[in-house]
Amino acid sequence: MRDKERGFMEVKRKNPGYVDKEQRIKNYNQVEKNLSDEGIKQQAARCMDCGIPFCFGSGCTVANLIPEINDCVYHDKWEEAYHLLMAGCSFPEFTGQICPALCEGSCTLGLNDDSVSFRQIERAVIEKAYEMGYVRAKPPEFRLEEKIAVIGSGPAGLSIADALNKKGYNVTVFERAEKPGGLLQYGIPNFKLEKNVVERRIDIMKEEGIKFEANVNAGTDVSTKYLQERFDIIALAGGARQPRDLSVPGRELDGVHFALDFLTQQTQRVLGQKVTGEDILATGKKVVVIGGGDTGSDCIGTSNRQGAESVLQLEILPKPPEGRTGTNPWPQWPVQFKETSSHAEGCERRWCVTTKEIIGKDGKVTGLKCADIEWEKDENGRFNMKEIKEFDVEADLILLAMGFVGPGPNGIVANLEIELDPRGNIKRDDKHMTSADGVFVAGDMSRGASLVVHAIADGKAAADDIAEYLSK
Ligand SMILES: Cc1cc2nc3c(=O)[nH]c(=O)nc-3n(C[C@H](O)[C@H](O)[C@H](O)COP(=O)(O)OP(=O)(O)OC[C@H]3O[C@@H](n4cnc5c(N)ncnc54)[C@H](O)[C@@H]3O)c2cc1C
Repeated sequence: MRDKERGFMEVKRKNPGYVDKEQRIKNYNQVEKNLSDEGIKQQAARCMDCGIPFCFGSGCTVANLIPEINDCVYHDKWEEAYHLLMAGCSFPEFTGQICPALCEGSCTLGLNDDSVSFRQIERAVIEKAYEMGYVRAKPPEFRLEEKIAVIGSGPAGLSIADALNKKGYNVTVFERAEKPGGLLQYGIPNFKLEKNVVERRIDIMKEEGIKFEANVNAGTDVSTKYLQERFDIIALAGGARQPRDLSVPGRELDGVHFALDFLTQQTQRVLGQKVTGEDILATGKKVVVIGGGDTGSDCIGTSNRQGAESVLQLEILPKPPEGRTGTNPWPQWPVQFKETSSHAEGCERRWCVTTKEIIGKDGKVTGLKCADIEWEKDENGRFNMKEIKEFDVEADLILLAMGFVGPGPNGIVANLEIELDPRGNIKRDDKHMTSADGVFVAGDMSRGASLVVHAIADGKAAADDIAEYLSK
C-alpha cells in the first residue's frame, strides 16, 4: 500500500468497469464489476483529507462522512467505516449502486484530477459489512405508543419508516405493488440494481419491527378513514408517477407506451411475477425512445436485452458539453455528456430533435415524423425552438421517457383533499406537513421526480419533523 499522504499524487482513479457487452446483454444481471479490497483501499488513499470536504458539505445530500470513511478503509478498519457510513445514509447498498455520486462532482481533487471514486468505496464498505455480519437487525430498545402509517415503500417511505422505527414508533408501510421498494424494485432495472439487494434490506427492516402491507392501495383497498382512526400520523411517500405525455397526432396508435410500464413489466418477468397489462416487448422491433435521460437509458438496456432490431434515442435538448463549462464551475454538479453502460451496449442517439407526429398503419405505429431543431435565445433571455429540417424515422415500438409531472391521481390525497403546489406536487410546509394536520409528505411526491439519495435524505428529515410534532 502506498503512503496515504501522497495517495492522490501516486494513484490514479480506477473504475471497476463492466461485464463484457456481448455477455451482459444476454441476461439482466448486474453489469458493474467490483474492485478488489486492495483496489478499493488504493482508491480510498486518493482522498486528500482536504481542509473543507466539499463532498460532504456541498455534494452529498445525506452528508456522508466521506473523508473519515475513506481513512478507515485505507487503514483496513472496515467495521468502523461501516458505522460511519450508516451515520449518514440508511441504505448505502442502494446509493453505492445507483447514485450518480453528487459527492464526486464536488470532490476537491476533481478540480484538477479525477475525483475520488467514493460511490465504489461506499458500495465496497456496505457489501463487506454484509459479508462480515456487521449488518444486523437492531430493533429499538423501547416502544412508544404512537402508530405511523407510511404510504409508499420507495426510498423515501423506507427512510421515514427506518428512522421512526429506530425512535421506537410503531410503523406500518403500505405499498400498492406486489413487493416493497418503489422504483428501486419496479422501475430501475436489475442490471443496475439487483432486487435481492432491496429485499435483503427490507428483511432486516421487518426483523426490526416494521410491518409491510404490500398489494394494498391506501385510500382504496384500505379506507382513508380507517388509516386516520388507526394511526396517529400518515406519512405520504407515493412518488411522482405521472409520466409526461406526448400530445401529437397518432399518440393513440398501438405500440406507443410509457417507459415505466415497459420497465416494470421486465422486472416482473425477471422476478417471475404476473405481468401487469398486455406484454410490451422490444423483441425484433425498431425501438424509438423519446427522452434522453436515465429512464430512457434504462429502456435502451432493456430493449437490447429483449432483442430489439434497433434502438434510437431522441432528445429535444442539445447534446451536453464534454466537460464543464464556465457557467457550471466546480463544486457544482457537472452537467456534461454521459454515456451509460446501456448506451454502450448499442443504440443511436440524436439531440435537438422534436417529434411532430406518430405515424401508423391499421392502428399500429410504423414510425415518427420528426424535425431537427435549434434553440434560439430571445431578447428576454428565453430559449425558443426553431425547426430546421423534417425527417421520418421507422418504428414499431415507441417508449415515452420524457420525465414525470407529479404524483398523479392518488385516492388518499384526494380523500384528504390535500393541496397541491403550482407544479402539481403535494404542497408542504418547512416541516414536511401537508395542508392536512398530522399528514406529512416526503420524496418525489413533494419534491418532484428526483434521485434516490434525495428521497432518502428527505425521508429522514420528515421523520425528524414527525417525531418533533408528536413530542409536542
Ligand atoms: C426508470 C427510472 C430509473 C431511475 N434511475 C435512478 C438512478 O439510477 N439513480 C437515482 O438516484 N435515481 C434514479 N431514479 C429516480 C429514483 O428512483 C426516484 O427519485 C426515487 O425512487 C423516488 O423515491 P420515492 O420514495 O419518493 O418514490 P418511489 O420510488 O416512486 O416510490 C413510491 C411508492 O409509493 C407507492 N404508492 C403510491 N401511492 C400509493 C398508495 N396510495 N398506496 C400504497 N402505495 C402507494 C408506489 O407504488 C411506489 O412503490 C430513476 C427513476 C426511474 C423512473
